[in-house]
Amino acid sequence: MHWRRSAALGLAFGALAWGGLALAAPGPETKTAPPSILFRDVALVPMDAERVVLRQSVLVSGGRIVAIGKDLAAPTGAKIVQGRGRFLAPGLADMHVHAANGRDMQVLLAHGVTTVLDMGGASSAFVGQVVPAVHAGRRPGPHVYLALRVDGTPRYGHWAVATPEDARAVVRLAKTNHYDAIKVYNDLQPEVFAALVEAAREADLAVVGHGVTRVGLERQLAAGQLMVAHLEEYLYTVFFPADADPGLQAPPDSAIPAAVAMTKRAGAVVTVDLATYGAIAAQWGRPEVAAAYLKRPDVVWLDPIQRIAWRNGGYDRRQGSLDARLAFLGRFAKALADADVPLVAGTDAPTIPGLFLGASLRDTLYALRGAGFTNFQALSTATRGPGEMMGRVRPRDPCFGIIAVGCRADLLLLRRNPLEDLRALETVDGVVAGGAWRDAAELQGLLDGVARSYADAGASP
Ligand SMILES: [Zn+2]
Repeated sequence: MHWRRSAALGLAFGALAWGGLALAAPGPETKTAPPSILFRDVALVPMDAERVVLRQSVLVSGGRIVAIGKDLAAPTGAKIVQGRGRFLAPGLADMHVHAANGRDMQVLLAHGVTTVLDMGGASSAFVGQVVPAVHAGRRPGPHVYLALRVDGTPRYGHWAVATPEDARAVVRLAKTNHYDAIKVYNDLQPEVFAALVEAAREADLAVVGHGVTRVGLERQLAAGQLMVAHLEEYLYTVFFPADADPGLQAPPDSAIPAAVAMTKRAGAVVTVDLATYGAIAAQWGRPEVAAAYLKRPDVVWLDPIQRIAWRNGGYDRRQGSLDARLAFLGRFAKALADADVPLVAGTDAPTIPGLFLGASLRDTLYALRGAGFTNFQALSTATRGPGEMMGRVRPRDPCFGIIAVGCRADLLLLRRNPLEDLRALETVDGVVAGGAWRDAAELQGLLDGVARSYADAGASP
């Protein structure tokens, strides 16, 4: 018995030595299972339909919503959250981020973001260590879905996949590393795109991403690509031929119905990234706009690597104006919403100057409101829409994006009703994610920790 124990200890110490870097990673880690949580007397904004249900109790256990009803009894040891005068909504989902580390996870969660789709470029340490730690409840953060980004050339700085054989190999690699999707990029060859779609289908991975210049979105979606990663992709391979040079002009509105019908026929999901295109348009040729982003107070939560990248963003040195295209994309987005094309919100944060993790997701919803979406339509793109999309990719995962029994308990407690005013999303009293409740003070603590670690980065240890 004794020798066995020492052998086990030896193994444990060995693992510690090897895993030292990962174990010493910054950020709070919790290991005990969180208690059940009972919300009492709260107004539900379930997002399954446009409705508010008053005076409800919601019981959360093991990371799931296990009961909803009037005056539910609290199990022994449950954490009770008084919800009177408060609104309980699903946590928000940003379906286009480029998060890099555990600090980005904290910033997202503190803004009420409980699900993200990482759209490529993540380090293997993020994919293999940070994400599993978040999913196991050992680190604070949103649930992360992962897309592996591949292109046909290194022109944009991404991995090149040159042949159908490469395509099959990269899909196997994605599967081994627990990715959920392959993200296709502009320069893929048609036969490589076809091989990616086929291999991804066999491996139960989704295909998401850009318009591929030599294929075109219409054929991509017909072949089974699930999601278009930006509204503006339609400009490059649908509204104008891929080999045309239309400058910065907007397409005619008369082209919108056919593009909507084509998307609907394919059953594809579109990422309505209006705040992203809006930020690009705002800083286009305007250095003072780009400089102002780096003076915003929330820059203290932005990875210093991104601060350097933002300073050299380059959009501010461009000529002309994207304003006509931005207005067109707003009308296109509204037409997609009114045709019930499935839509998801996405920001591309933090890799484009001005797109702050968390804050830019709210900005996206405000931009959709500005384009004529109802509050329910806008909020759906960050709740119900992402839940339905990932339900098609991962049908055995618990549902999310709505408040219903059996779904993942990703919840926001708000002081106001977001269906009345989307700005209510800025009145977060607490968040449930990963089975744990964090009140406003704890969320602020996550942000303060990130700001402190960046501020201290240059200090002597
Ligand atoms: Zn992106």
